[in-house]
Amino acid sequence: MRTVAADMGNADLRAWLTEEDPVQLDRLYTAADAARSAAVGPEVHLRGLIEISNACTRACAYCGISVHNHAIQRYRMGRHEILECARRAKELGYGTVVMQAGEDPLLTRAFIADLVRAIKCETGLAITLSLGERSREDLIAWREAGADRYLLRFETSNPALFARIHPEAHQPAASGQRPAASGQDEVPRIAMLRQLQELGYQAGTGVMVGIPGQTWDDLVGDLRTFQKLDIEMIGVGPYIPHPATPLAHDFDGVAEHGQQVPNTVLVALKMVALARLLVPDANIPATTAVATLNKETGREDALKAGANVVMPNLTPPAYRALYEIYPDKACVNETAEQCHSCLAARIHSVGRCIGAGPGAAPKTHRRTAS
Ligand code: SAH
Repeated sequence: MRTVAADMGNADLRAWLTEEDPVQLDRLYTAADAARSAAVGPEVHLRGLIEISNACTRACAYCGISVHNHAIQRYRMGRHEILECARRAKELGYGTVVMQAGEDPLLTRAFIADLVRAIKCETGLAITLSLGERSREDLIAWREAGADRYLLRFETSNPALFARIHPEAHQPAASGQRPAASGQDEVPRIAMLRQLQELGYQAGTGVMVGIPGQTWDDLVGDLRTFQKLDIEMIGVGPYIPHPATPLAHDFDGVAEHGQQVPNTVLVALKMVALARLLVPDANIPATTAVATLNKETGREDALKAGANVVMPNLTPPAYRALYEIYPDKACVNETAEQCHSCLAARIHSVGRCIGAGPGAAPKTHRRTAS
């Protein structure tokens, strides 16, 4: 019988990724759920997500808020509005706030540092930033201000595919701020993830599954990259085409017959389970993209396949609809309270409980303790 354990070889990983037999898949999810239970326990940690700006200077070919999209109205939340959302997070009992945005130069080093200090001082919450590729100086300043974590998905570990969906990523940035490409064999965002870990951040990353041109071997490479980085957080979601992006209309990139990964919830769930088995003590969210493609049971299915985190949305409803990285995003019409009670019910329905405190990955404690 095929191995389902932390020491799986690449052939096993590939076989699991293409597995369709429900009996076998049940074995995979059961093993991942047991690994999750042993490494991080029954608690599901809630991270309150604040989408602080949809302004973006980058041209990521898949993303609905990239510079390509001239049709959307842009917004940037003010300091006071963001602080209000952080207070809601505290009131709702969350241990962490996540501030995410497009790559927006007007979210300056000083503005974010001040915000981090204010949130930390007032709420004591763990603070996660997800502001794209930023300079080492920015990252140092925000860490000093009190930021605990940073999320930056590398999206795909295949450098050629990465370059195709990030058209300008390999050109030197005018400001010289962005991390340089680190050669052909590694995507450039990996260097920034290492830098984050070196600066004392808990680093989160992740990938999209089903990008046009993405193969099964690419996903095996993604899993090995999570392992190699010994990363603290791993987010996986299906790629969802957005009509206002170049990638939605580009079919040239589809991989050879049988090799193209479909952008389904099923593949995302298999990736969640395999990521849990390979990096048992990582934090793994049940992502909004999974919930978007399966609004009925997507979150629950992810929680049963190895996930231990969910990210309720705290963005004020007026802005939320404008942070349209892909269409028909789950929870887009809900208030923070509605989002909270819906997710709490889903967590309880799968026999789990809501975690208290910041909910750092256990390896972080090890690191701090050693
Ligand atoms: N500017 C930040 C935040 C980007 S949005 C950054 O670059 O890190 C957060 C994540 O949403 C991205 O990392 C990407 O994995 C995901 N995403 C963007 N567009 C998507 C799409 N069309 N389908 C699915 N996921 C998408």
